[in-house]
Parts: sequence; C-alpha cells; structure tokens
Amino acid sequence: MIYDAHFHAEDASLLQYMQANNIKGIVNAASPQEFQRLSTWLKPNDTIKISAGIHPWYAQRSSWEQMLPIMEQASIIGEIGLDNVWCDVDFSIQAELFERSLAYAAQNYKPVILHLKGLEKEALPLLKKYKNHYFVHWYSCDSYLEEYIALDCYFSIGPSVYKDQAVQQVVKQVPLQRLLSESDGLSALSWCEQRPISLQQYSSIMQRTVSCMEAITGQLHMEVCLNQNLQRFIAFSES
Ligand SMILES: [Zn+2]
Repeated sequence: MIYDAHFHAEDASLLQYMQANNIKGIVNAASPQEFQRLSTWLKPNDTIKISAGIHPWYAQRSSWEQMLPIMEQASIIGEIGLDNVWCDVDFSIQAELFERSLAYAAQNYKPVILHLKGLEKEALPLLKKYKNHYFVHWYSCDSYLEEYIALDCYFSIGPSVYKDQAVQQVVKQVPLQRLLSESDGLSALSWCEQRPISLQQYSSIMQRTVSCMEAITGQLHMEVCLNQNLQRFIAFSES
C-alpha cells in the first residue's frame, strides 16, 4: 500500500487514482480556489484529508482574511513555513505570516505541515514557542535535524530519498514512529526525476521511496509503520 502524507493535486486525476486504489493521504490547498476545487473532487468520508495554509512562496500575494475561512474548515494547517532558497519573498514578511499561522494553528488545536528550505534554524524558536504536532515535509537540510527530532516532529520522506544523502540521513536518524512518505504531487515528482512523470508512474515511484526506507532502516513492511504514523498524525486533527 501507498501512503502519501503530503501532495498537491493540480487536476482531479491523481485524486481519482488514489480514491480508486484506496490510497490514503493529505492533499494541500494553498488558496481558497484550490480548497473549493479539492472539496468538490473529494467524496464524503474520504480517506484523503485536506490541509490549508498560505505557502511561504505566496506570503506577499495571498490574503490572510481570504484564507482564514478556509483554514477554519480545514483540520490540518499547512503547508506553511520559511524558504529563502526557492523564493525571494522578504524574510520579515514570511516570518510574520508564519508566526501568525503557527499561533492560529496552536490556538485552534490543528496540527501543522511545515515547508522549510534554507531557514530551518530560524523556524526553530517559533516552533518551540507554539507547542503543537508538527510534520516537516521533505526535510533536506544537513543540519538541525536533532533539534527537530527533539520537538517530536513527524517527517515525510520525499521521492528524492534514493539519491539525496540529506533525506537518507532523515530516514536514518528519525524514530520509525515519526516517519511518513510523500510524493508532493506529480509536478514535484517530475521536478525530482527531471523528466515528465505521468499518473501511471506514480505508484512505482512511491514504492521506490518505501523500498529505500526499508533498506536504510532494515525494517520490513515499512508500509505498516507509514500507515500507523499517518493515522496517528491525522488523529491529532480529530481530537
Ligand atoms: Zn508541497
């Protein structure tokens, strides 16, 4: 089985594929429009949950007032975070939005999915300030991993694990009970593979991630752990 703890769905095809194959996961909405689209594609009692939040890349152009009603409907907040590698939004604008989002999530007992790139150190004091259940998606930083583990974060392992030593290090060091797997969506898979990835190749790439995790941890039947961990994280949003 495949468990996709963090992904984006540009159209309905990936969601339909996952629904047809009973694949569980958390799909991300970065705007009210995306949230509405996802809501129409998902079925009641779907095993796929929605996370909603303002991505750091959009910190400047998204409106908190427009996103707030969407965050109120979502039981998981994300992906939110800090990034100075893949975007050039001013740090102070990102940090203000990030803290506002973290405060909202903590006050409303909603777990959080984090996007961190280049500013892993700067995010730590804020995560310590706002106690919550955090999961860091595709952590690929060579440093600070111990501090994130000490915060009891979950970590979803991205498709680059077969070639990225920093991601392999996450699998090595993080306790088994805190590991998740993710695709980050078909566009991210294409980016990672540096070639167009179709829906037909989705499962085999996700299986490759699980096989890599089994090889690194020495754990057989990694999918059992991945299922339990994903269900435990989702349960934080329901209690
Ligand atoms: Zn993402």
